[in-house]
Amino acid sequence: MRKKLMTWLLAFAMIFTVAAPAQAARGGVEDFVRRLYQVVLQREPDAAGLADWCDALTSGRAQGAETAAGFYDSIEFKKRDISDSDYVEMLYTSIMGRSSDAAGKADWLKLLQEKGVTRNYVLSGFLMSPEFGKLCDEYGIERGSYTSAAVRDQNPDVTAFVKRLYSVCLNRQPDRDGWDFWTGRLLRHELSGAEAARGFFYSQEFLTKGLSNEEFVRIAYRTLLDRDADAQGFEHWTGKLNDGNSWEFVIEGFIGSQEFSKLCDRYGITPGEAKKVNDVTEAKTIVIDAGHQAKQMKDKEAVGPGSSQMKAKVSSGTSGVVTGNDEYQINLDVALLLRDELTARGYNVIMTRETNDVRLSNQDRARIANEAGADAMIRIHCNSVDASYVRGALCIIQSKSNPYCGSLSGTCSELSNTILKSYCAATGLKNMGIQYDDNLTGTNWCQVPNTVLEMGFMSNAAEDRLMGTDTFKQNAARGIADGLDAYFGR
Ligand SMILES: [Zn+2]
Repeated sequence: MRKKLMTWLLAFAMIFTVAAPAQAARGGVEDFVRRLYQVVLQREPDAAGLADWCDALTSGRAQGAETAAGFYDSIEFKKRDISDSDYVEMLYTSIMGRSSDAAGKADWLKLLQEKGVTRNYVLSGFLMSPEFGKLCDEYGIERGSYTSAAVRDQNPDVTAFVKRLYSVCLNRQPDRDGWDFWTGRLLRHELSGAEAARGFFYSQEFLTKGLSNEEFVRIAYRTLLDRDADAQGFEHWTGKLNDGNSWEFVIEGFIGSQEFSKLCDRYGITPGEAKKVNDVTEAKTIVIDAGHQAKQMKDKEAVGPGSSQMKAKVSSGTSGVVTGNDEYQINLDVALLLRDELTARGYNVIMTRETNDVRLSNQDRARIANEAGADAMIRIHCNSVDASYVRGALCIIQSKSNPYCGSLSGTCSELSNTILKSYCAATGLKNMGIQYDDNLTGTNWCQVPNTVLEMGFMSNAAEDRLMGTDTFKQNAARGIADGLDAYFGR
């Protein structure tokens, strides 16, 4: 009898221990959901809502983390419009089951307010914490997982980098679309830090602020170097701008700095390359003289300073033996292309003429270069001789014994050889080297390094035809520009 009772008791205990967890789980689910209503929505559950959530949890359609996230994501909760501080505090209470510690709370608030992640990022941090895991265990439910899908929540440092560009460069809070756009492109490595920064500086919004050079430099310092301008640096960069450099010159100068690299590194962003922008205050000045003009000037001028020998002011030049093209037109075509090519390469370019309808003597042309203090003057011509078989390119300069400008002969020789080399390489014409002539008004009056480039012979049928083509003119301009680059060691 005693043995039988023991067996019964044992059996009852076994049934009880097997049955007990299942019952506790059902009760646990309801308690878990009820608690979320009370702590998050601050009300008792309505019957339908309670049943829905319990059903989802017991059937396995939802787990602890997404259920809790569902309450925080609900319209009802969002309507309560609580502060970030209260929000974080509530997460501590509802998810960790304790009140906040100061350091922990400060970290979460920093993520929200300084870096700019959404509340869902913080929520995910709490839901994936060991404390929430334990809480779920206590209620006998699976924790599951929850991560925020928001672009801004994928990498808080990248989010913060973009937020910083809005606040420092544009002086405002980011708008949501823009914030997501820039953050997404940086996350996908479609942009470097440099490219993102350019996007802000070259935006309509920034460019239409009407900033002075001084205001611009202060903002560029803070945005790209993450500090206020020091007095010396401020003076340097505003000086460069006031002397004619573009904002791009400053932006690229800063992007190329160690400080910008370090700033990007701090946010885990690839800095990217700076573009080379020439300093216009150091740019070489080139005077381009397209030889001749539509109408010759027969009245005379002195062939050199102080000379009594007189020559016609300017001739109308030669013309093509086959094409009948006018030399002055070919010269101008190449000169205009060379102007554009050199400007694109960062040179200051001064043209003696940009149309054929001018009245410029050879002295006038030399004076333009002298007054500009040009680093070089390129005088563009086409050649002609009686012997129609003669072909090739050559340069004409003064000899060392020229009484007006002999001392420049060596420099002019170097300039000529350098230009001929790349000009002939670009056009395929034969290099006939340098010829010396001390009887040229334009040379004798010129006080800067200069050369007359005779591009080819219009008296030769093949070269006449060639020089009339657009391809030739483009190659010629590029070849001369290459020669100038080489001459200036660029
Ligand atoms: Zn000529």
